Amino acid sequence: MGGWRDNLIDIEPYAPGEQIRVPGLIKLNTNENPFPPSPAAASAAGSFDAKSLMRYPDPDAGELVGILAAKAGVSEDMVVAGNGSDEILAFAFRAFFNSSRPVLFPDVTYSFYPVWCRLFGISYEEIPLRDDFHMYAADYERENGGVVIANPNAPTGIAEGLGFFRNLLDANPDSIVIVDEAYVDFGADSALTLIGEYDNLFVARTFSKSRSLAGLRLGFGYGHADLVVSVNAVKNSFNSYAVDSFAMAVGAEAARDDRYYRERTAELVRVRDSFTESMRGLGFIVYDSSANFVFVSHPGVDAGDMYGWLKGRDILVRWFDKPRIRDHLRITIGLAEEMDALFTAISTYMKEKNIR
Ligand code: PMP
Repeated sequence: MGGWRDNLIDIEPYAPGEQIRVPGLIKLNTNENPFPPSPAAASAAGSFDAKSLMRYPDPDAGELVGILAAKAGVSEDMVVAGNGSDEILAFAFRAFFNSSRPVLFPDVTYSFYPVWCRLFGISYEEIPLRDDFHMYAADYERENGGVVIANPNAPTGIAEGLGFFRNLLDANPDSIVIVDEAYVDFGADSALTLIGEYDNLFVARTFSKSRSLAGLRLGFGYGHADLVVSVNAVKNSFNSYAVDSFAMAVGAEAARDDRYYRERTAELVRVRDSFTESMRGLGFIVYDSSANFVFVSHPGVDAGDMYGWLKGRDILVRWFDKPRIRDHLRITIGLAEEMDALFTAISTYMKEKNIR
C-alpha cells in the first residue's frame, strides 16, 4: 500500500441480506412484505407527473410530514422524514451521540448500530440480552451517552412492553433514547405514546415493512422539536433533499391508506402464528414474535447447514454467523403458500438428516 490508498476509509460496512433475483425463488431473508403496496400508493406511482422531476423536491417533505404528524397527533415540528429509516437512524446517531460516554445497545440487535458508531467515531458498549433474549432496564442503568433499542428487536422478533421503556427513560433522563420501531406494526406497543412525557425520546419508523415500500426508501422519526431540529441540521449537512418527489407522492398516499395495510398486517400475523405452531410441532424453539419474521433454532439442527440446504432449493432465509445466534435462522413471514413450501422443505430436511 502507500500513497493515496493510505487515505481511504477503513471500515467494515453493514452487510444487507442477499438480493438474489432467481425466478421462483422463495425470498424470506430481508423482512420485506410479501403483499404489494396499497392500490392508492400504486395509483399515485402510476399517475406520477414525470415533468415535475425537473424541479427539486420540498426539502422539508412538508406534505408527508403533515400527514404523519396528524396521524400521530403531534405537531409538525416533531416529525422528520428521510430516505429510509436507515438514513433517519444514521442522522440521529450523528445528531444525538456527541458525548465521550459510550452509547448502549444490546449485543444481539440490528447490526447497523455498531457500523454507524464506527463511521461517526461514537464509542459504544453492547449490553448482553439476558438468556431469555429479553432486555431489562436495570442493565441500562450505567454511565452512557445514549441508548438505542429496536422494538420489536431484530433478529429475535421479541418485543418489550411500555413498562421497560418507562423504566429505561426514567433511569436515563440525561441521555437520548432512540427506539427503532421498524417492525412495530406487527404487534408491539409503540413508544410514541410516551413522546409527550419524555423530551429525550426519539422514535424511528419506516414505510419498508408494514407499508410494503422497501424499494421506495422512505423513513421517518418522531421526537421533541429540539431533537428534530438537530436531526434536520445533520440531514441538511448531508443532503437537503432526502425525500425525492416520487417517494413523497407515493408515500403520502401510502400513509393515508391505513385500512389496507392493517388488513394485510393482520393476515401476516395469522400466517406467522400458524407457522410458529407448525415449527414448534417439528421440535423447533421459536420465540414469540411481534414482527414479520421468526427466529428459530433446534437442538439437533446445524443452522448454517440448513440455510445452505434451503438455498440450494431456491428458498432463501437469513443465517447470521455470529456469536450467540449462529445456531438460529431468521425467517421472514411470506405468503401462506410460501410458508407451506418452506415447512415442507424443512420437514424433508429433518427426515433426510434423520433429526428428531
Ligand atoms: N431497523 C431495523 C431493525 C431493520 O431491520 C431495518 C431493515 N433492515 C431498518 C431499521 C431499516 O429499514 P429501512 O431503511 O428500509 O427503513
